[in-house]
Formats: sequence, C-alpha cells, structure tokens
Amino acid sequence: MKISIIGAVRSGVGAAKLAKKLGAIPFVSDSGSKEKLQSSISVFESEGIAYECGAHSEKVFDCGLIITSPGVPTDSAILKTAREKNIRVISEVEFASWFCKGGIISITGTNGKTTTTALMNHTLNESGIKCYSAGNIGEAFSEIVLDVKKDEFVALETSSFQLDFTDKFKPFVSLILNITPDHLDRYNNSFDEYIAAKMKVTENQNEDDFIIYNADDSNIKTNLKNTKVQKLAFSLKSEVPAGAFCREGKMFFSLSEKVTEVCSASDLFIKGEHNIANALAVLAVSKLLDMPNQKIRKAFTTFKGVEHRIEFVRELDGVEYYNDSKATNVDSVIVALKSFTKPIYLILGGKDKGNNYDDIRNLVLEHVKKIYAIGISAQKVFDYFHSIVETEKKESLETAVETGRREAVKGSVLLLSPACASFDMFDNYEHRGKVFKNAVNKLV
Ligand code: ADP
Repeated sequence: MKISIIGAVRSGVGAAKLAKKLGAIPFVSDSGSKEKLQSSISVFESEGIAYECGAHSEKVFDCGLIITSPGVPTDSAILKTAREKNIRVISEVEFASWFCKGGIISITGTNGKTTTTALMNHTLNESGIKCYSAGNIGEAFSEIVLDVKKDEFVALETSSFQLDFTDKFKPFVSLILNITPDHLDRYNNSFDEYIAAKMKVTENQNEDDFIIYNADDSNIKTNLKNTKVQKLAFSLKSEVPAGAFCREGKMFFSLSEKVTEVCSASDLFIKGEHNIANALAVLAVSKLLDMPNQKIRKAFTTFKGVEHRIEFVRELDGVEYYNDSKATNVDSVIVALKSFTKPIYLILGGKDKGNNYDDIRNLVLEHVKKIYAIGISAQKVFDYFHSIVETEKKESLETAVETGRREAVKGSVLLLSPACASFDMFDNYEHRGKVFKNAVNKLV
C-alpha cells in the first residue's frame, strides 16, 4: 500500500520507517525547508524513503492512507483536500497502535503527561514488568512498537493532537490527568471541543480495559461517557471507593471495599502536590497490575523526575537550586511555588505570552524573598513586583544565578521558574535549563 506521511519530524520519521518495515511504500511530505529538515532527510536517504520538502505536491494524494503529524493543523489545506478526496487520515499513534502486541497505557491531560509517563515507565521497569515509554516523550511510538511483546507495556504520552486522528486506537489503560483550557486555537476556541478530543482516548475501550481518571477534575468526571470500560479514580481530596487516594500523608489503593496503605507521599522524591496526584495515578495502574507495595515505594523514591521540571540541581551552603525551565506560563509557576515550604529566590522573565501576574501575586507574597527579572520582559516583571517584594533586573541568566548565590540565605531555594518562553535569549526551554544548570554547577 502507498502511504503518505504529512510532516517530516519525529513522528513522521517514525511512521515512515514503520511503514517501510511493514512492506508499505511510504512517501513523506513536509512544507518546511530542506535546511530545517536536514536530520530527517538523512534518515530518509539512508532508509530509501521517498520524500519532498518546501511544499506539498499532488503526489501526496496518490495513496490509500495518510498519516498526519501532530503539528499539522486540522483545518490545513492539505488535510481538507485529503478529506475531499475521501482519503483516510490517521495519526501516527493510531497507525503504530495497530501493530502493538503489548498493553498500551495512554497518558493524556493538559499538564503532567511527560512526568507521569516517565514515572509510569520507571515504576513498571523497577518492578520487573517490561515497559517502554513513547509518544511526545523520547521516541515516537512507531519507533518502538515492533519491539513490544505480549505481556509488555508501553507508557504512551498522548497529546490531543494525536487523538484528533484516531479511530480504532484502544488502550488497555487510559489515564486522564486533568483538563484545563489550553490549545483552544486548534479547537475553534471551544473548550468543549478540546475536552471531547481528550476523551476520545476512551472511545474504543471495552470491559477488559480501564480508565484511570482524576476525580478532583469536574471537566473529566462529567464527560466520562464510555459505560463499558472499568473506571478507577485518583484523588487528592476524597477517599475514592475504587482507585488511589491520599489520607494524612499516606497513599492508599482501594478496590472492592478493600483499602490498602501503599506508601507515604513523602516517599516521592519529586516535589509538589501536583506530583502526588501524578503518582496516585501511577499507583492505581501499578496496583491493577498487582505490583507489591514495597516495589512501588522504591520506584517513587528512586524516580528523580524529568529534566527541566522542578529539577533538583544541587545544594550549596544550605541553598537548594532547582531548574523549572519548562514553566513557560504562570500556571506552572503557581505549581512550582506551592511545591516549596522554604523561602524562594525566584528567577522570572523571558518572552512573555501575555502573562497576568495577579494570579501569582499572593503566592509570591507568601513564598518569595526576592525576584531576579531577566529577558525582554524584565521591565514588566520589575514594574509589577517591585512594590510587593524586592526585585532586581539582571542582564543575563548567569548573573542572576551569581547574584542569587551571594544573596540567598541558608535554608532557602534558588528557583528558575520563568513563566515565559525562552526564545528571546535561548533556542528553547531545554537550552535555557542547561545554561541555568551550567551556571549553578560552576558556583563555588
Ligand atoms: P506535559 O507533558 O503535560 O506538558 P510535564 O510533565 O512536562 O507535563 O509538566 C509540565 C508542567 O506542568 C510542570 O512543570 C508543572 O508545572 C505542571 N504539572 C505537572 N503535573 C501537573 C498536574 N498533575 N497538575 C497540574 N500541573 C502539573
């Protein structure tokens, strides 16, 4: 079969390689420039995969199936034409799932997908259950799917963009972390459409499958429409009858009126209440797979988190340094500030996406000793905060770190949680996080 693949980045490359391995004839088309796609092009050339870049030609429609990448807008001209020509369009996750012999644990939600996917993968592997992680995290699903055996699992970070083009995708577990307004530009500015896109993950599940959902999130609770699938909840706020919950700092699993204490929230190395919620979701899946409590506890203790998400860097003279470069909006800073009881010296600023700092005003008053304002929004940060808390503009991230080193008192935290995109000073948030860590690790 001829298969056209729109988008030549990670998932497009994965899909093309998988199609080729399976004996199909893939053709990859990307409107981006040759220069930008250099690394993908070298893969296509070494694997003998046909491709075009710079623009989409009519050749795209000479196929029986189109696999589209998550970055391609649903209403793009190329997909519209494909629909007009009645060509079936699916996502890369849908395609790869057709060939998965193991159990798919699909992890979706607005926030926490990467962390929860990584923790799920770590916990299963620590306990001797072979698990792969794929999706937005690390490798594309198509790259690993043929390695997955029966009785093995894939922790699959699944974005709503991937779910937009599924029709048979049927995970063994669909884990829904939270749904808050995001990416609405892609969904006709309709929150309901965005919720529907996320809930699509459960559509094909049946009596043998599970949904693990956040019972504290009313957007999820009121939209659980699949009546066949088995449902378990997780909650920070209430003692759910089936699923995982927290009571007085301990984590419990309950099923069929049996309640088991599994571990303590303090066993988790990663910080913050949001991560306790993420861990409860993982705990529920682990108990469904009959994992012993001590293995879950050990996995939670040894999971060091994902780079750039409230990542512990080092301690120096009683000051702890944390890299939260992934915090590119105010919501993420809220989560970060709530994660510490110690006073915080906070590095804030970068490319502002229309931040309203009223949302963190009270938390800053409560937790923050001093703000170092960086990037093109340094003046905005200074203007907003200097009357509330000591605020100083710094010309670079490195000088902010050096000043923080001199000023932060024993027993405090120096935190990069910038609330802004990084593109004014860095290539991306990963680059910003690495520059921060380098500067911190150089301190003497
Ligand atoms: P995603 O892959 O969904 O973007 P990440 O695991 O990369 O999620 O985390 C991104 C940010 O989302 C974190 O820095 C943190 O601020 C926030 N976050 C993580 N888990 C949660 C959660 N359960 N609820 C709310 N916010 C969260």
